[in-house]
Amino acid sequence: MLHKGGVTFESRLATKFFSTCLALMIAFSVVAFTHASESKTPTPLDRKEGDEVKLNDAWSYLSTGNKDQDKYLESLFIFLHKEFESIFGTDVVNGIKCTIYNDKDAESPFIHYVSDKELKIRLHLSSTIYWCQVVFQLAHEMTHYIFCQTYEYKKLFGSKWNEEIVCEAMALYMLKQLADKWKECTLSAYDRARRTPYSSSIYTYVADERKKGADYVLKSSQAPITLSEFAEFNKTSGSDRENHRAETNYLYDLLITWEKEQIKPIILEMYQYLKEDCYIDYETWICEAKYPDVIEKLSKIQPNIVRTVP
Ligand SMILES: [Zn+2]
Repeated sequence: MLHKGGVTFESRLATKFFSTCLALMIAFSVVAFTHASESKTPTPLDRKEGDEVKLNDAWSYLSTGNKDQDKYLESLFIFLHKEFESIFGTDVVNGIKCTIYNDKDAESPFIHYVSDKELKIRLHLSSTIYWCQVVFQLAHEMTHYIFCQTYEYKKLFGSKWNEEIVCEAMALYMLKQLADKWKECTLSAYDRARRTPYSSSIYTYVADERKKGADYVLKSSQAPITLSEFAEFNKTSGSDRENHRAETNYLYDLLITWEKEQIKPIILEMYQYLKEDCYIDYETWICEAKYPDVIEKLSKIQPNIVRTVP
């Protein structure tokens, strides 16, 4: 028998039954999905050392196995990631999948170029409780990460001298940013238990690092060197920080005065001007740069090189 609205009681019952089933199915899917994502990224309490913890679509880290230490690493990464994004943009800062991990027994911090689509950053810390060290190492390696995004970097595997100095100066620059904007970092909540804000320790850390290079002189203000001498600098620049302390301090002093849009091309354009002999052709770069005065000042981090014509 037809009802007023043209729908039988049985069919209304069937519709109600169907919608109840649908609601149950949706509820079940939500629970199943929640469990699936939990199994991918364990909650802090379930985590074991080495578990992968996703930070966003591109970045993740391997758990230290300690809830507090994970929190320090995460909070400092979030601050740095935001700072890097404000200079280089979201696409560049998330362009390649990257996993961060700590290895207490490693020789040094390092970035592994796994493939065009994957990088790994190894930190070398006895604990992530040393926040300045975390930032110093992580910001350095994240700067390498930005260099890795450029096509030329993938093609020609680098003039490390210039790149290392930029990474080192950027690490100090990021430490200063953290100190200046300390309240924006969630770890500032720990200041309640301190006599002085932690930001003062960050300024001291930067000052101490800079002091180590106080007596050094820029190589570009000294006698020119040969291409083979510069090749040696390129080879050792990753491990021999002493050799470019003056250049690191010099560039840090400039970075803190430059606008973010002036800093951006330093890293994104540098390898367009890499020559086969592994030096940067600053002369051409200065002519083509949007901010020639910035590149002109930057060029002083490279020694004067005698290029003999055969
Ligand atoms: Zn490096």
